[in-house]
Amino acid sequence: MRQYQGKVVAITGAASGIGAALVAEFSRRGAIVILLDLDPKAAARVSDTLGLDRDKSACFKMNVADKRSVDTTFRQVLKRFGRIDVLVNNAGISHISKFAETELSVLEKVIQVNLMGTIYCTRAAIASLIASQGQIIALSSIAGFSPLYGRTGYSASKYGLHGFLETLRSEVREHGVDVLLAAPAFVRTNIEKNTLNEQGKVYGSKKALAGKVLTPEFVAQQIVRAAERQKRLVCISPMAKTARFVSKFFPALYERLMYRKIIREFVK
Ligand code: NAD
Repeated sequence: MRQYQGKVVAITGAASGIGAALVAEFSRRGAIVILLDLDPKAAARVSDTLGLDRDKSACFKMNVADKRSVDTTFRQVLKRFGRIDVLVNNAGISHISKFAETELSVLEKVIQVNLMGTIYCTRAAIASLIASQGQIIALSSIAGFSPLYGRTGYSASKYGLHGFLETLRSEVREHGVDVLLAAPAFVRTNIEKNTLNEQGKVYGSKKALAGKVLTPEFVAQQIVRAAERQKRLVCISPMAKTARFVSKFFPALYERLMYRKIIREFVK
């Protein structure tokens, strides 16, 4: 079992949704939490609402999609706190649009934030994570191991996370570093505000919410419990577990069932 008392936990996308709930969950366990987000004011609000101690937390403005921003910020974090014990790659955006109608720039943006962002942050923290026998956590999705209609770019980014982190796990295992991939089903967060349409504009409110919608607090609890137990993958909700099983062993059946659920959002 891992314990987080006094550990330095850096969380990307910490200003909202699952990231903010993870800040609460790790700080409750006595961790020093570093909130990294594009929106530093919203990150500061999360910190204030939770009443985080200034010695045990810090907020930084950082764009995971920008290598320079990531390098500069991680250098500042390491200078101030001395190490990073846990890196949570949570920042992410999505799109809802069919591939044939989607501008390439939308797909590039989603992959740049979700996949390259994770690669940049992990590269910036890896030496410290190895030195502290730390842990890498990343937010995947059902779309990280099974198809999700209308999200080719999102799915490519999340499948990419599995390829990247499962291979990295095999390299860092000998240094005592754990890697956890978390795949929740649909969660009620602000992700709609960061979901793009075919032209890269905000998609709007018609989000596909298939199955029971989870709360960010529940998802964060499940992630931290799995991290404590040094799990490799956590599928959060019965729907996510079923999706993993059915898509692996009955892929054609899965495709039909998923299509029937999701196609509604494309009916004008
Ligand atoms: P959210 O929109 O509520 O929060 C995302 C946070 O990331 C925001 O604070 C935003 O400012 C930040 N962010 C976005 N782009 C960034 C960038 N370039 N650099 C730094 N910060 C950036 O979304 P959420 O639902 O909490 O999503 C968190 C993660 O969970 C994402 O990786 C998402 O793919 C994953 N996820 C979400 C759901 C869901 O249904 N909400 C389901 C499965 C997986």
